[in-house]
Amino acid sequence: GLQPGQDVVASVCCYCGTGCGVRIHTAGRRVIQVAGDPDHPSSLGKLCSKGMALAQTVRNDDSRVLGARWRPHKNGPQRPIALEAAFDLAADKLAQVIQSDGADAIGFYLSGQLLTEDYAVFNKLARALVGTNNIDTNSRLCMSSAVSGYKATLGADAPPACYEDLDSADTVLIAGSNMAYAHPVLFRRLAHAKAARPDMKIIVVDPRRTDTCDIADLHLAIAPGTDVALFHAMLNVLIWDGMIDARYIQQSTQGFDDLKRRIHEFTPRAVQDICGVAAEDIARAARWFGSANAALSLYAMGLNQSSSGTAKNATLIHLHLATGQIGMKGAGPFSLTGQPNAMGGREAGGMANLLPGHRDPANAQHRHEVAALWGVEALPSSPGHTAIDMFDAVLQGKIKVLWIAATNPAQSMPDQSKIRAALRKAEMVIVQEAFANTETLAYADLVLPAATWPEKEGTVTNSERRISRVRAAIAPAGEAMADWKLACAIAQRLAARIAPHKRALFDYPDEAAIFGEHARCTAGRDLDYSALSYAVLDAEGPQQWPYSAQTQGTARLYEDGRFPTGNRRARFMDVGYTPLAENISAQYPLHLTTGRLRDQWHTMSRTGLVPALTRHAEEPFVALNKADMRRFRLASDALVKVKSRRGHIILPARACDSVRPGQAFIPMHWGSGFIAGDGINALATSARDPISHQPELKHSAVGIEIP
Ligand code: SF4
Repeated sequence: GLQPGQDVVASVCCYCGTGCGVRIHTAGRRVIQVAGDPDHPSSLGKLCSKGMALAQTVRNDDSRVLGARWRPHKNGPQRPIALEAAFDLAADKLAQVIQSDGADAIGFYLSGQLLTEDYAVFNKLARALVGTNNIDTNSRLCMSSAVSGYKATLGADAPPACYEDLDSADTVLIAGSNMAYAHPVLFRRLAHAKAARPDMKIIVVDPRRTDTCDIADLHLAIAPGTDVALFHAMLNVLIWDGMIDARYIQQSTQGFDDLKRRIHEFTPRAVQDICGVAAEDIARAARWFGSANAALSLYAMGLNQSSSGTAKNATLIHLHLATGQIGMKGAGPFSLTGQPNAMGGREAGGMANLLPGHRDPANAQHRHEVAALWGVEALPSSPGHTAIDMFDAVLQGKIKVLWIAATNPAQSMPDQSKIRAALRKAEMVIVQEAFANTETLAYADLVLPAATWPEKEGTVTNSERRISRVRAAIAPAGEAMADWKLACAIAQRLAARIAPHKRALFDYPDEAAIFGEHARCTAGRDLDYSALSYAVLDAEGPQQWPYSAQTQGTARLYEDGRFPTGNRRARFMDVGYTPLAENISAQYPLHLTTGRLRDQWHTMSRTGLVPALTRHAEEPFVALNKADMRRFRLASDALVKVKSRRGHIILPARACDSVRPGQAFIPMHWGSGFIAGDGINALATSARDPISHQPELKHSAVGIEIP
């Protein structure tokens, strides 16, 4: 029971795309406890170690950005400045650059940590006021290949399954996901289902033997980057063994015959050397998939963070289309979203190649529709830069002002030396940030204090398309403001300078009004949730889109075998296997893969504040197989220099059975504060997928030296 003066607020965990419901207990202005919310339908009261430690991350001391800071000269120190003056400085510079160099000299680099309302305001600011499509987010590093994979095959960016399907699947294919660490609450749900129904078959596709393999019946330890060859070979087996659903293919899909011709050569025996797994195991995986009453695939960054990420996603989805394993209980391809609100960001159109309501800025009709919804004459038609291109454009002097919110590109982007050079080169870098410890703050010319969880109101959408209310439990620290409020404050000043009639576009009384405008943008689209409002969410609880007042939310998509493509048929993508962007060589003989640890999140700006979370792994390390420790004559914990074609870092080496010979693994979390060099992404390549533009953060060729 609550003591006098205590309160409890229902909200959502701010870390991964599982989107677990939390109850935040407060006393006065302090958060005293965070517990799982048994009423949240996605998580049923469960939390992982990160969610359970949330109360310990709530700060209002100097670990937070408490006020605005400004440096008039690039190499000078940042000094405190009044918030109002900071807004004026930003508006002055934006107006000057728009007038002298054009709207495309401005770039916005946002984050899947933002709430949908933040996204909606930034998107309107970039396109309707500034007049540029240069708005992209760190979701480009996270889910953009899942988006393009869904769109290429199913016709829309919409995960078709739901969490309940984990309970009822017969075969679960987990590919490129260490869900035991990255989505722990879902992993436990699956482990529980497997314990209750031991006949359930679990196949894990991962170069490493991760903790997720603990519940696997079959681990396919494929060579990094060879997923497409594997999925083609599995489809080959399904066809030859007569396990495809010819009726479903005929009625609900197109393009199967072309793909069938292409994968003719991809027999298990032909790909076993490419993938590094036995032909028999590939055939077994295919048969388990093909003979299941319900087959579910769960996948994440191992497929997405790849120079062939779209193809990997599409070829996995092919297995479902060919067997009709989609649109029914326990079945379907199901991307596990990395960030808490990468989904909501996409719904709000917060990426260069998206507009609100899953629209496309290259489509004149879509631009016209959104302009009408926003009440402006027109939207810009020139293509916007995606994440890596945006930093390239800064380096080339094309983008002069970079506005960064809730993300840490000076650690999280690949090819760090290039990113940092771009940050140094920009005429003005605006960074709105909550935590004082991020690498990117050192490159900011103007720092704005951002409110963060649990100081913000809004909504997020989790992996199963469920929209939940995020609620503020305490007031923001210092002078911090919600990201959308910071954006509106500058937008109104900018409008006064360049287009006074647009000032009212940013006159929102509260988050509910922003959500209302955003929800109206979804009307008539695949994700239609125009009937949702804060009042409905508060009364009915979290809802899965599409949502209508009559039928309420939607657990599964495509139950009728009809897809949001022109002719209502899903598409098989005629795509081949492309090897990794970067091969190993005598100088760089190891395949480096990267991944999460159980108790850390991204660049640790929040989780790094909690000693209990750091105990699981206290320092960065490179994990090598024993054979490679011997080959390089390394003692355990010896400091080594790990070098790629782009940079090097120095960190301890550790023998690890989970890593195969010829491979290396480094957790993704630590930056230059802990590692000699620019952090792990000094090594990573910015080679990217040609369709999704998502970089190959998961793999680079590296060498090892004794420093
Ligand atoms: Fe938070 Fe994800 Fe853990 Fe749930 S599984 S508590 S959303 S980090």
